[in-house]
Amino acid sequence: MGSPYKMEQEIKLHGTEVILTSGVMGSGKTAALINAVEQLESRDIPYLIIKPEIDTRTTAIWSRDGRERPCEVVGTQHELLRILDQHKDVKWVFVDEAQFFNPEFIQTICQTGNYHGIEHIHFYSLQLDYLDNVFPAWKEVARYADRWYGLQRMCEMCGSSYASHNHRVSGGDSLFEVGTDNYKAICSKCKKELE
Ligand SMILES: [Zn+2]
Repeated sequence: MGSPYKMEQEIKLHGTEVILTSGVMGSGKTAALINAVEQLESRDIPYLIIKPEIDTRTTAIWSRDGRERPCEVVGTQHELLRILDQHKDVKWVFVDEAQFFNPEFIQTICQTGNYHGIEHIHFYSLQLDYLDNVFPAWKEVARYADRWYGLQRMCEMCGSSYASHNHRVSGGDSLFEVGTDNYKAICSKCKKELE
């Protein structure tokens, strides 16, 4: 499937479907991930959830509605390869907070996952940082993605349009800050008014 976002060459993996769900902060990406795994659980289908190591080694993901699931935390390529190797029976892999990975990790997840016979790899990712730059990891997932989903959230300022920017309201200069307290999801009109 083509996409207006694709500027890099597409990569097709035979036998592995790569899915990309994008959305601004607070649009419910982790909730959507947990919705998906709940359906697998009801059918006793095994799965693996991974997320990048950011500032903690907390081995769980949480949605705002209070649900949580255990996950594997990946800090190094070595850890990533070990985790994929330990889950060779799994056909479903979910990646939360994918925007925080280096593109090389995205490549490894896709290529090694394909080699291990993983049938579905579903990434959940922010597309834009607070300066409206596309995250390199998002671009890399986009090269592989066979299927795309977008989650919506209303603008936190005007409440009348869908948000498309992750606006920083406090905190430091890091593009990679964790958590949403320092950000507001806002629409393009409100963004313009703030500039
Ligand atoms: Zn607005």
